[in-house]
Amino acid sequence: MSGFLNRLILRTVSWFFPHLSLRLKASPFFMRYLPQLFLNNRAWASQQTCQDPEFFERLCAIQKPELLWIGCADSRVPANEIVGLPSGELFVHRNVGNIVRRDDQNCLSVLQYAVDILQTTHIIVCGHYHCGGIQAAFGPCTQDPLEGWIATIRAIRQTHADELAALVDDDARWQRLCELNVLAQVGVLSTLPTVVRAWERGQPLAIHGWIYDLRNGLLRDLEVSINANQPG
Ligand SMILES: [Zn+2]
Repeated sequence: MSGFLNRLILRTVSWFFPHLSLRLKASPFFMRYLPQLFLNNRAWASQQTCQDPEFFERLCAIQKPELLWIGCADSRVPANEIVGLPSGELFVHRNVGNIVRRDDQNCLSVLQYAVDILQTTHIIVCGHYHCGGIQAAFGPCTQDPLEGWIATIRAIRQTHADELAALVDDDARWQRLCELNVLAQVGVLSTLPTVVRAWERGQPLAIHGWIYDLRNGLLRDLEVSINANQPG
């Protein structure tokens, strides 16, 4: 019944936006991977319940993660997995290049919810080496949506042009800009009203900058942590 209603809603949308020409029945080509995902999901849910019969009941009752993770959308950097945390222990925001922008309502909303409502005590900005978003900032400008998004990274590259130029090759410049980008986002975070207000009212809140190495799966602390309650 719900499937019928959902299709009806989609058809209604397509009446108002005929140019979308919604295809309500995906072809076998598009569907070939998807049934396996539902099988995987059932197996995962069953495993969770076997290990901990009250797992889902507890998750429904409360969400109280200590950590907000701001990371890259890259599929090779799954936040919970690389730090070994189960569901419910990491509040996650991801985008291309792990960028924190003052005009990004999505990121600002996640931050506000994490700090004001969930009372997270740590914010981790986690970049990664060999980041495609960072690499794009070394390429030519385009008219694509990504161009507007990575303008921030191009600006960081410009700010550190001398340091980057002194490095041995393009790969070294790429990896260093991955680090510099994390540092810049930590700096932006520390000036956002949600964070500043939390510090002003004495709420424990620290911001950290980490980087993940795709080549060995290891995280590294860039040692730029900021905690207004414990300066220095
Ligand atoms: Zn990336």
